[in-house]
Amino acid sequence: MSFRLSQRSRDRLKGVHPDLIAVVETAIRLTPVDFMITEGLRTPARQTELVRAGASRTLNSRHLTGHAVDVAAWVDGGVRWDWPLYPRIAEAFKAAAAASDVALVWGGDWPRLRDGPHFELDRRIYP
Ligand SMILES: [Zn+2]
Repeated sequence: MSFRLSQRSRDRLKGVHPDLIAVVETAIRLTPVDFMITEGLRTPARQTELVRAGASRTLNSRHLTGHAVDVAAWVDGGVRWDWPLYPRIAEAFKAAAAASDVALVWGGDWPRLRDGPHFELDRRIYP
């Protein structure tokens, strides 16, 4: 079984770093769980709004520079947020990143404020 990115997901990749787009393109072919892209590049105004709403804790988000994407698991025609789906998607992202030699960080691996839907290019390699 192989999934495809929807046009809506593709539209949300506009302005995202090409290396990260390449990882997404490979991950969608590898993942056992379908996903959509919910957000890529974010404006400073939207980031400020998210921080104010408590949905984000930093004004220094990787989304502001196109170095991050958020995904949502898509199962049986709907978005699902159950945690166990996200490590399975992350495995596909990690395999895709390894295949293209891209340094990728999964928010689900963060020891604090774990962020399962979030993937970003490693700051050490992509400042
Ligand atoms: Zn994010």
